[in-house]
Amino acid sequence: MKVTILSWFLITILSFAQAQPLHARWDELTASDWPKALAQSNQTCILPIGILEKHGPHVPIGSDLIQVREWAARATKQEYAVVFPDYFYGQINEARHQPGTFALPERVVWDLLEATCDEIGRNGFKKIVIINGHGGNPQLIRYFIQTRLEKQRDYAIFFFEPANDSAYAKQLAALHKSDPAGDAHAGERETSSLLYLRPDLVKMDSATNESGANQHRLNIPNIYTAIWWYADYPNHYAGEGAKATRAEGELINQHYIGQLIEALRAVKADTKTLQLQQEFFNRVKKE
Ligand SMILES: [Zn+2]
Repeated sequence: MKVTILSWFLITILSFAQAQPLHARWDELTASDWPKALAQSNQTCILPIGILEKHGPHVPIGSDLIQVREWAARATKQEYAVVFPDYFYGQINEARHQPGTFALPERVVWDLLEATCDEIGRNGFKKIVIINGHGGNPQLIRYFIQTRLEKQRDYAIFFFEPANDSAYAKQLAALHKSDPAGDAHAGERETSSLLYLRPDLVKMDSATNESGANQHRLNIPNIYTAIWWYADYPNHYAGEGAKATRAEGELINQHYIGQLIEALRAVKADTKTLQLQQEFFNRVKKE
């Protein structure tokens, strides 16, 4: 009798374990899931990167990561990959005058990104897909990726760079109300995106408490300088968040999630990048 009950118990547990989906988030997997997660992802890991930075008076400090984390969570339901947990550590010195900004020293930012990718690689991933939500990061990320040719590693990094096609631009223009030229950080589009993904975190009543207009306090033609963003947008607010709608947010997010699914399929199927990387390093050694 005891054996029968034990067998029934084991069968129930095993069938429950089989019925459970393979989670995408690294921190939600068990160690015993690892071989299956590596196989199902084709050794592909997504690294969503955001920042902790003021987003106007009305959307959350973690808005950038909240968005790309959601893209990863939703895309991997259709095209499996493992998703690295919350990574808020990029370039954000220009917001240090605002509350809640978490700006690490420059070398820590670099070393942390490098060590994170190396650790993802050490855990068996050959392809790392970075998806970035923060406007102050792309230069850092592109330079970081380019310098991966300095030393041989057995993984490759891919940077997801979504594009806007004309059909999407038309649909967006039909929903959009504010001046597209001034619509950026915490503006209509980004607020709409948050209204769609996390309406519980958006304070629409506060969206007009500060100005999101470009203040044009510095104008030297054809020159880039560090204080440019602070000169234009000292409130860390660019645009008119008050004009945001959930419908616009749905369109924006569906567009990017669709492109991320396509990018993941292409990266998972790709064999050329690692092959060319290997060929490159073989030649570097010989010369
Ligand atoms: Zn943002």
